Amino acid sequence: MEKCPRCKAEKKGKYWCSACKAVFVCPMPNCGATISNPDAEECPRCGLLFEDYVKQRKIYRKCPKCKKKQGLNEQRCQHCRFWFYCPTCGHAVTSTSALSCPRCGTNLQR
Ligand SMILES: [Zn+2]
Ligand SMILES: [Zn+2]
Ligand SMILES: [Zn+2]
Ligand SMILES: [Zn+2]
Repeated sequence: MEKCPRCKAEKKGKYWCSACKAVFVCPMPNCGATISNPDAEECPRCGLLFEDYVKQRKIYRKCPKCKKKQGLNEQRCQHCRFWFYCPTCGHAVTSTSALSCPRCGTNLQR
């Protein structure tokens, strides 16, 4: 095993360090983003919360708007109705203040 760049333990796995739980590659099969910040709590690409996944294999995301946890597969926040993905084109909505999809213009306020 390689050494973890954060805690220096020789427990660095392919996706995360089993000693300090730093994530290096997003473990979601359809994401696989390289995580450059070992202190990151969530994937910058797909939003996966690493702590829940590494410890319990739970696939959660945190709503950027209301900060509540829910399944990563939800298209929309069940609490504040924020769209994570555009319902028309599937574009990932990153701005919590977006009124419409930046790609196709679908109204996201419904
Ligand atoms: Zn480590
Ligand atoms: Zn990801
Ligand atoms: Zn929300
Ligand atoms: Zn769209």
